[in-house]
Amino acid sequence: MSGQQSVEKGAISIHTENIFPIIKKWLYSEKEIFLRELVANAVDAIHKMQHINLVEGLKIADDYGVDIRVDKEAGVLVIRDNGLGMTAEEIRKYINQIAFSSAEEFIDRFKDLEDKSQIIGHFGLGFYSSFMVAKKVEIRSLSYQSEAKGAHWSCDGSTSYELGHCEKSDRGTEIVLHLEDDEKEFLEPARVREVLERYCSYLPVPVRLEEDQVNDCNPLWTKTPSEVSDEEYKEFYKKLYPLADDPLFWIHLNIDFPFNLKGIVYFPRLTTEFDVSKSHIKLFCNQVFVSDNCPELIPEFLLPLQGCLDAPDLPLNVSRSYLQNEPQVRKIQEVLSGRVASKVVDLAKKDREAFGPIWDDIHTFVKYGMMRDDKFYDRVKDQVIYRSTGEARYTTLPEYLERAKEKHADKVYYANDEATQATYLKLFKSQGIEVIILDTLIDNHFIQFLEMKNTSVRFERVDSDLSDSMIEKDAAEKLVTEEGGASRDEKVKGAFDEALEVEGLTVRAESLKDDSVPGMVLLSEQSRRFKEMTRMMGQQGSDLFSEHTLLVNLASPVVKKMLRLKEAGRVDDANLLAEQVYDLAMLSHKAFDGEKMAVFLARSNRILELVGEEE
Ligand code: ADP
Ligand code: MG
Repeated sequence: MSGQQSVEKGAISIHTENIFPIIKKWLYSEKEIFLRELVANAVDAIHKMQHINLVEGLKIADDYGVDIRVDKEAGVLVIRDNGLGMTAEEIRKYINQIAFSSAEEFIDRFKDLEDKSQIIGHFGLGFYSSFMVAKKVEIRSLSYQSEAKGAHWSCDGSTSYELGHCEKSDRGTEIVLHLEDDEKEFLEPARVREVLERYCSYLPVPVRLEEDQVNDCNPLWTKTPSEVSDEEYKEFYKKLYPLADDPLFWIHLNIDFPFNLKGIVYFPRLTTEFDVSKSHIKLFCNQVFVSDNCPELIPEFLLPLQGCLDAPDLPLNVSRSYLQNEPQVRKIQEVLSGRVASKVVDLAKKDREAFGPIWDDIHTFVKYGMMRDDKFYDRVKDQVIYRSTGEARYTTLPEYLERAKEKHADKVYYANDEATQATYLKLFKSQGIEVIILDTLIDNHFIQFLEMKNTSVRFERVDSDLSDSMIEKDAAEKLVTEEGGASRDEKVKGAFDEALEVEGLTVRAESLKDDSVPGMVLLSEQSRRFKEMTRMMGQQGSDLFSEHTLLVNLASPVVKKMLRLKEAGRVDDANLLAEQVYDLAMLSHKAFDGEKMAVFLARSNRILELVGEEE
């Protein structure tokens, strides 16, 4: 053979004189990606071989794969493939010219960027990223073309290279990296394996490290959704997130048109808080791992989603700020939001009872999504369910309003704290009025949002006012008694006014259909909301109770007794009862500080002492 004698020496033509030092220094923190680039090239070469094989009918039967090997003694890391290989001519073209100029362009484009991690996945540097870790790189390659001779290229990280021939009997390419002294970590199989597992776990051809395959060539997202079982989805999730609980549900995307997008997104069990600055979906490009934080791709309200997306058409060698304006990215966001909406609607329609518990886990971000994304709102609005005190446990808003038509048209009663608002809830229940529970952080905003969207509908908290249907309009208590001018309700009001003398308090006496509650404190919905808002903005002086109403129930035996005592001249005892009725009502609003609590407890004890001594 005559291959060895004619070695070509040449200079890579460059415009940026010191490109190698830049490559070396530049991506310091993510040096390990050189391995991803080289393995991805090897996989490409195998795909090309497979393609040619098919198209040209070459009948090359082969066990395709990428082999990675370390030789500690020689200080080299070798990446070998049995793809289509390159002739010397092709190396000159693809490596010296094309690869080089694209690396140069890449660096030119991003050298001024402050935060290098802004470049998603750093795609595009390609073959030359090997100079981040190697002082010398050799290519040994044999092309599939008949009569091809082995080609050998080497470059020591300067702009000069050598290109000649070598003995190579098997088709494919071998990249030999002579590692820098301070990059010897890549001679440790454990370290190499770690990098391979990160970037190459789902590559479509076998990748072996020291003969041991590291990847799964057919990850679940590449399969047809109808052929995958629930168990397989859960198992795959466990592989991606070993420490997480089972996901609530998932969506398998398998889109070919108008763009390519595959993947499985999972809904994790969520706490109400989630970090909206980070995304949790792993992004792949043709099964090559790219990044696990690419919030640009995911609609903000879906950031807590997990799983993986494979977006082969995305230009990944671009910066984040560019991605934000990329029309593809917006389309991906729309697809995701649309698919999530239809999943939510499907689940809700299929089995409301089973959906309930799932809903409890996801409602926060569904509500957030409705507020952030109009299309999403329109898609899900009639299926969103609310926990309710009614018979069905869960109701949609249209259903609720339909049932409310007679008793309180367009008015939605809600509670935001079932425990402290228990008295109110009981009263509503006894009158057959359904109340929905809106008790999470987001609900305050969500209520306002719903009112804006449905301008005729008003939300009122159970303690803001009473429905007319709860009040006995012409109760006997309201009638004027024979002796004096004042009716019973006026007398009761007067007695409470005198006994309490609380600033900002209005006493209102009504006869409720339910006689078990002596009194309750009402806060008007609008002024309460306003105060809560100013309070949230950190402003002082917005005491929730600067204006409030004590509704005294004329039908209550306690109130009747209070009036009797007063009329019998036992003013102290009457006042004791009035104060106690007021405090009990305030208790539902968690309105006690330490001092008020002490007074309340002392008075409660005093009342206990009085039991049985009354007559
Ligand atoms: P890119 O992969 O984006 O084209 P690279 O710098 O990674 O850029 O590679 C440049 C070119 O070198 C490839 O397009 C390919 O033609 C050639 N090449 C690199 N590695 C191999 C390989 N293992 N087998 C065959 N050709 C290769
Ligand atoms: Mg490449």
